[in-house]
Amino acid sequence: MNKIISVKNLVKNYRNFEAVKGISFEVYEGEIFGLLGPNGAGKSTTLEIIETLRPKTSGEIVVNGFNLDKDPESIKKIIGVQLQTSGFYPGLSLIQLIELFGGLYNQPVDPMELLRLVNLEDKAASKFKDMSGGQKQRFSIATTLINKPKIIFLDEPTTGLDPQARRNLWELIKDIRSKGTTVIITTHYMDEAEQLCDRIAIIDEGKIISLDSPDKMIDDLVSTGFERPKQVKAANLEDVFIHLTGKEMRDE
Ligand code: ADP
Ligand code: MG
Repeated sequence: MNKIISVKNLVKNYRNFEAVKGISFEVYEGEIFGLLGPNGAGKSTTLEIIETLRPKTSGEIVVNGFNLDKDPESIKKIIGVQLQTSGFYPGLSLIQLIELFGGLYNQPVDPMELLRLVNLEDKAASKFKDMSGGQKQRFSIATTLINKPKIIFLDEPTTGLDPQARRNLWELIKDIRSKGTTVIITTHYMDEAEQLCDRIAIIDEGKIISLDSPDKMIDDLVSTGFERPKQVKAANLEDVFIHLTGKEMRDE
């Protein structure tokens, strides 16, 4: 497989605090790669450095053949970055926002096509502030696609969403990947990583403590003789919730 991102010995210090302590990993073209870890692990810092939005302390980063130190502008052109939803002008409609971003990126855009992709055609004329949490997240993912990027970065895209909206977002992310876009996602939900990611790096206190496919990690743990302490039931409470309330989205 082709590697599209290579990170070597990345270090980030905030004054004398070491937030990222020399991590290395590669991301392959076309995969969904997850950075997993508790709050404060260094996930967002790592993403923002690769996105060229934050300076690193040391290390080497190459994205799609472009060295971050020499050619950040070329990197910016081929990546899609999810903005904080608080960054959207609340009073503009979805169409107006997409046109605004298209202008900023200097890209011709077809707002309706983009909204169709994230299942928000019906909301085209609605204001950003009048949408539900799940719709806002879907819209912010749509905006990462405006410049037709090779790689998109999603930082905790499902945090705070209800189970239906999370599942819906997983489908959207799989959809985007199936069209050839590489996806890097951070999360602290393990079920999400297991569902979505081809490979994950588990990061804790600025260090990668494991990097593999979710399947391989689970098999490795089981092969050490690990067993879950309790008999696992054939369903969990989330299954009950989804069974009772249905899979369909509520916020359309
Ligand atoms: P995560 O995204 O995994 O929750 P972050 O990358 O946001 O973690 O943060 C990693 C560590 O760096 C945390 O301890 C955080 O408090 C610290 N940190 C993040 N941004 C800054 C900053 N601008 N100045 C100082 N410390 C920061
Ligand atoms: Mg974060």
